[in-house]
Amino acid sequence: MNIIVCIKQVPDSTQVKVDPKTGTLIRAGVPSILNPYDHFALEKALDIKAKTGAKVTVLSMGPNQAIAVLRLALALGADEGILLSDRAFAGSDTWATSYALATAIRKIGQYDLILCGQMAIDGDTAQTGPGIARHLNIPQVTFCEHVDASGNQVMVKKLIDGGKQILQADMPVLVTMTMPVDYTPKYPSFMAAHKAQDKQTHTWTAADIGADLHKLGLEGSPTRVDRIFPPPARQKGEMFTGSAAELANKLVEILKKESVVK
Ligand SMILES: Cc1cc2nc3c(=O)[nH]c(=O)nc-3n(C[C@H](O)[C@H](O)[C@H](O)COP(=O)(O)OP(=O)(O)OC[C@H]3O[C@@H](n4cnc5c(N)ncnc54)[C@H](O)[C@@H]3O)c2cc1C
Repeated sequence: MNIIVCIKQVPDSTQVKVDPKTGTLIRAGVPSILNPYDHFALEKALDIKAKTGAKVTVLSMGPNQAIAVLRLALALGADEGILLSDRAFAGSDTWATSYALATAIRKIGQYDLILCGQMAIDGDTAQTGPGIARHLNIPQVTFCEHVDASGNQVMVKKLIDGGKQILQADMPVLVTMTMPVDYTPKYPSFMAAHKAQDKQTHTWTAADIGADLHKLGLEGSPTRVDRIFPPPARQKGEMFTGSAAELANKLVEILKKESVVK
C-alpha cells in the first residue's frame, strides 16, 4: 500500500500578526511549524504503516525552508519526502496549489491513500484536499478524526453535525483529517532524527512534474485576495455588582436603552 501525506509548513499562528498599514502578514521572526492537522494525518499514516508495512511518502509545496517539515516527517517514520519548489508556484491560490500537488502525485504514480489535514492554520480554507481529489478524479472523505486501511479499503470516522459517521471506501481515496481537541503532536527522538538524515528527499520544479505553467501562480489562480485585516479588538466588558434584583434591574435598563427589549 502506498500512502501520500500532503504536509504544509505554516507560521506558528499563535504568534502571527498582521501589519495594520499594509494588511500583510508579519512573518519576520515568526517560527515555522508543521501544520498540526498534517502532523496528525502523518501519525495516522504511520499507524497504518506499522500494521500493514505501507510506504509513506510526504509531499510539500513551498520555499526551500519547507524541507524542514519533510525532515521532521522522515524522522517520525515517513519513507520518502518530496518538496515542490519553484518560482512558478508563487502566488498560487488553493486551486493552483491543489493542481500542483495533484500533478506531483500523478508523477509519483503509485498511490492508494492520500491524506491531507482538514485545513492549514494560516490559510484556513480547507479547500486544498478536496481540490487534489477533484484534479485526480478520485473520491474524497473530509473531516475525519480516524482512518484505518486494510486490503483495498479504508475505514474512516467522520465528524458530522451532532454525531459521527463510520464510512468505508475503496482505494484510491483522499481523506482529510481533523484532530482531537486534546491532541499533542509526537516528536522524534534525537537518534531517530539523526538516522533520518540518510532518508531521501527530492526537490521537484514545475518542469519536473510536467505542470502546465498557465495553471500555476497568479495566472492559474481564480481567487484574488483584496485585503487581509485583523478583526477589530473587542471592547472591554462592563462589570456590575449588587444583589440579584439590582443586577436584573440594571440588565433590563441596559437592554431597553439598546432597544433589545421595550
Ligand atoms: C490569490 C492568492 C495568492 C496567494 N499567493 C500566495 C503566495 O504568493 N505565497 C504563499 O505562500 N501563499 C499564497 N497564497 C496562499 C495559498 O493559496 C495557500 O497557502 C495554499 O493554497 C493552501 O491553502 P490553505 O492554506 O487555505 O490550505 P488548506 O486548503 O486549508 O489546507 C488543507 C490541507 O491541504 C494540504 N496543503 C495545503 N497547502 C499545502 C502545501 N503547500 N503543501 C502540501 N500540502 C498542502 C495540507 O494537508 C493541509 O492540511 C495565496 C492565496 C491566494 C488566494
